Amino acid sequence: MAKIAILDRKCTGCGLCASKCPFGAIDMKDGRPELNAACKVCGVCVKACPEKAILKLETKVDSVDKSLWKDILVFAEVSGGRLHPVCLELIGKARELAKNVRFQVKAVLVGSGVKEHAEELRHYGVSEVAVYDDPALSYFRADAFAACVEDYIRFARPSVVLVGATSLGRSLAPRLSTRFHTGLTADCTRLEMRENTDLVQIRPAFGGNIMAQIITTNTRPQFATVRYKVMNAPERSPEASGEILLRKLPGGVAQSRASCVSVTPIPPKKSISDAEILVVGGRGLQKESDLDMIRELARLLGGDWATTRPLVEKGWNTNDRQIGLSGRTVRPRLIITCGVSGAIQFTACMNGSDHIVAINTDRNAPIFDVAHTAVVGDLYEIVPALIRQLKEARA
Ligand SMILES: Cc1cc2nc3c(=O)[nH]c(=O)nc-3n(C[C@H](O)[C@H](O)[C@H](O)COP(=O)(O)OP(=O)(O)OC[C@H]3O[C@@H](n4cnc5c(N)ncnc54)[C@H](O)[C@@H]3O)c2cc1C
Repeated sequence: MAKIAILDRKCTGCGLCASKCPFGAIDMKDGRPELNAACKVCGVCVKACPEKAILKLETKVDSVDKSLWKDILVFAEVSGGRLHPVCLELIGKARELAKNVRFQVKAVLVGSGVKEHAEELRHYGVSEVAVYDDPALSYFRADAFAACVEDYIRFARPSVVLVGATSLGRSLAPRLSTRFHTGLTADCTRLEMRENTDLVQIRPAFGGNIMAQIITTNTRPQFATVRYKVMNAPERSPEASGEILLRKLPGGVAQSRASCVSVTPIPPKKSISDAEILVVGGRGLQKESDLDMIRELARLLGGDWATTRPLVEKGWNTNDRQIGLSGRTVRPRLIITCGVSGAIQFTACMNGSDHIVAINTDRNAPIFDVAHTAVVGDLYEIVPALIRQLKEARA
């Protein structure tokens, strides 16, 4: 943190600093400059003062000894009785990052009856799986789960903790980062590791217009959440490796202030993030009923359908079928976009797809920058023609 200091004994009260300040942050009172709340510590006044009566002071920030924090920890979420696939994707990324700095990759499992998942995780190249298994953890209570993961972090001192950006992960990660007074970057789309073990956490910012690189320079661990389908999951190895560490529950977990009154299971719903083939409608569609041909093409291809955000805003679709920063991230084998311009907030969440086919009348549409197959033309001619051909081929 920096701040501006004015040395009374040197100041002549000339007022040059106040006239040069671009933020109007210096008031002249009784012939003396005084800083107000608008000061951004830009330093223009420091340069403007002919008497060198204004100083920019940098306060020293305490930094942890980074060498005491090693390895990468992945929170292995169990949802609906199975390992959430995002944790395998995180292990894959963690292994890549760990190589650069000779770290190991560890996982932590929390829940009731989760030991069997520890055995499965050993097939993905982790060196240790810590397990907190107890009936008191049979459903997610943020304080109890956070206490368990905190206990393991204090024991293992990982440099980086990766958590899936699921509903559970989004509740857990901030609770943990505040317990360690350290940084958390949500919804990272890329992660890189510097030689000094600083994790470069990259994510869209300012409405997706820039990719921000965020670094936790002075504290450890470095917490990051990553959405499902953003990273690649590693292959399952036939050989198991690494140790399973059964940990005792930290004190107080059973006396959590939250308790479960009843559980109403939500019927499992297909997510567009799991689709192998997706057909997507954009604002190039003129009316709601035109979505029928998008759904029909998806059905004939054995896939699912989705839209861009403007169609959700019009009430033609629900948010769980919206692709993009404020919707879902998808990574199908094939995606066909129809009348989609390719705004960054959309493409950032589908550009990892194996094959992208884009149909758009505008040959300069940005969607063509990410498309593998560009179809310049009217979706009202191309989509019905595709449907016809698929039906003929079936007949
Ligand atoms: C913070 C923030 C978050 C956002 N999150 C999301 C998000 O999650 N998802 C999302 O989608 N957007 C999001 N947006 C909005 C985003 O910026 C774009 O406005 C949006 O993606 C545009 O949708 P579109 O491509 O359907 O529409 P448009 O940009 O209007 O594009 C329509 C395209 O259709 C083409 N077209 C028109 N007629 C035809 C035809 N007959 N045949 C073929 N092509 C045709 C046009 O040439 C045009 O390129 C977000 C914006 C902000 C600021």
